[in-house]
Amino acid sequence: MSFLAPGLTPQEASRICMNECRAMCCRGPLLLELAASEVENFVAESRRLQVQVKVNRAVNGQGWVKFADHPGEMCPMLDTATFACRIYESRPQRCREFPSRPTPGCAISGG
Ligand code: SF4
Ligand code: SF4
Repeated sequence: MSFLAPGLTPQEASRICMNECRAMCCRGPLLLELAASEVENFVAESRRLQVQVKVNRAVNGQGWVKFADHPGEMCPMLDTATFACRIYESRPQRCREFPSRPTPGCAISGG
């Protein structure tokens, strides 16, 4: 569950993320961590969407996606026309939880 600034509805937060912030947390020199149980789904979704993803794997099965390894230095699941997540319903836990607290630069958290 992510942290929203007091009074902000999830709908308004989504609007801000896509239209004002334009998914800054899905772009740039960042890493997206994947739990071991999420790696397979992430790869399957990339095949469904026909996008190339490079998932790095740790020995314990956990994975991570380095945005810099992908075109535009962004998450390969990001829709660049709308700034929506193309796998929103099955997005990784890390994405579901962000922001977990007031975070500088994140408008919906009030940070
Ligand atoms: S940084 Fe915050 S406001 Fe911007 S897209 Fe991410 S969650 Fe939304
Ligand atoms: S999976 Fe979706 S929410 Fe998560 S970083 Fe990629 S585009 Fe953003």
